[in-house]
Amino acid sequence: MLDDHQTPLPERLTDQGLLPGAGDFPADGRMAVRDPATGGLTAQVAISDAKGARAAVDAAQAAFPAWSAMLPQHRATILHRWHALILEAREDLALIMVAEQGKPISEARGEIDYAASFVAFYAEEALRPNIEGVTSHLPDAEMELWREPVGVAALITPWNFPCAMITRKAAAALGAGCTVVIHPSAETPLSALALAVLASRAGFPDGVVNTVIGDAATIVGVWTGDPRVRALSFTGSTEVGRLLYRQSADTVKRLVLELGGHAPFIVFEGCDLDRAVAEAVKAKFATSGQDCLGANRFYIHRPVYDDFCARFAAAVDKLTLAPGMQDGDLGPLIHDRAIAKQVAHVADAVAQGARILTGGAVDGDQGPLFFQPTVLADVPDSAAIMREETFGPVAALSVFDTEDEVISRANASEYGLVAYVHSLDPRRIYRLTRALQYGMVAVNRTKVTGAPIPFGGMKQSGIGREGARQGLEAFTDIKYICRDWA
Ligand code: NAD
Repeated sequence: MLDDHQTPLPERLTDQGLLPGAGDFPADGRMAVRDPATGGLTAQVAISDAKGARAAVDAAQAAFPAWSAMLPQHRATILHRWHALILEAREDLALIMVAEQGKPISEARGEIDYAASFVAFYAEEALRPNIEGVTSHLPDAEMELWREPVGVAALITPWNFPCAMITRKAAAALGAGCTVVIHPSAETPLSALALAVLASRAGFPDGVVNTVIGDAATIVGVWTGDPRVRALSFTGSTEVGRLLYRQSADTVKRLVLELGGHAPFIVFEGCDLDRAVAEAVKAKFATSGQDCLGANRFYIHRPVYDDFCARFAAAVDKLTLAPGMQDGDLGPLIHDRAIAKQVAHVADAVAQGARILTGGAVDGDQGPLFFQPTVLADVPDSAAIMREETFGPVAALSVFDTEDEVISRANASEYGLVAYVHSLDPRRIYRLTRALQYGMVAVNRTKVTGAPIPFGGMKQSGIGREGARQGLEAFTDIKYICRDWA
């Protein structure tokens, strides 16, 4: 059991209005937010119910005509102000994130920069032309395509990137002229509320940005059933994504689903092995492995298998575990279900013949939600960790012999978000990048994300893209105009 001592955040966060104060609890009740490093109470937040969820849509619907009609440069100005305020509050937002999500403070700061970059990007993108000409195929006709905002957009976000997953969706929707209702994860409502406070200070008119905290199935259930909600953008597990896909069918919503990943990390002989090891550590252990882009399955070419296993295990052995404010390499996992999954995946792999090269258990010295960075070797394809997302700091290594074999094993998954390849052979890289059924392929590197690229997956990793120009698509409809002057 987690103990119940307080994990205080600086009072100035409450004084500045970035955290709810003790008196901020109206009728609907409250919910505790806990620090995963200590189990202590970080804060309490007011929660809403179905009535609150409907009221948010009422407000967003009422605000839509004026917001969508506002000149794009005025919307852009407000987005630019939001961007500036987020960066000004960078340290405070990072503190709040650590206190509810647990990630190391340097990662939290990096996430604030990443989150802000989407706001800046879509402030600019709002100014790009939203009218396209068409070469006419009819005599005397003039043709144009207009991109128009769809209306109210519902944004549902997870706990692993509590700020960036909100801004990645919200900035695109708002820049396009939609109004939004946001439901953040129950684990990380404080980051969402702080972003909402900053949005209000940036000058978004009332009703344009609405954040609702409460029971996910109730709140989101109201939104999926409401025909006024025209678009739904969800980041989270494939399981919940399927449910929301079904729930959105009756009202034919535009959908963006950013779902699970189960990334293969493929290392060929002849690559820069030092670099492959360093990138493998990043690809697996950033955000303590709780990243949809996290590498889960490592396929290593036989000629370098033993060498890679030894070097990778040695590098992982050096990683430090600590509460986020102490800025170790890894922080705690989010909840005990996440710990249970690591324990189960390790036990299952070992029972099927895998060897533990390092780690393998909860780190009792740090606390019940800290799991040791773990490397398993000789993991058979039948092991659960080779088939399911682990979403934690356990790396499963397996040997392969041929290119065709590794392509087929890497593609043998319902997921298709990102794949990592290490090779210095250009032809091989070409063949791999063509053959891998993944929305993103990273060659000889790990970091691929950023506001200007279309982030998203193939197969059951999702639908649609976020970031880039493509991130506007689900929030806009195309209107085709055909004019005849003759
Ligand atoms: P989750 O699916 O459990 O929850 C995500 C969100 O959905 C939360 O806000 C939650 O409150 C809400 N939710 C949960 N049950 C719901 C229901 N019945 N009805 C409506 N809403 C519901 O996912 P999680 O555990 O918070 O996040 C981890 C998952 O997210 C992993 O699978 C990971 O791969 C995925 N993820 C994907 C991306 C991406 O961009 N593709 C990014 C981050 C995380």
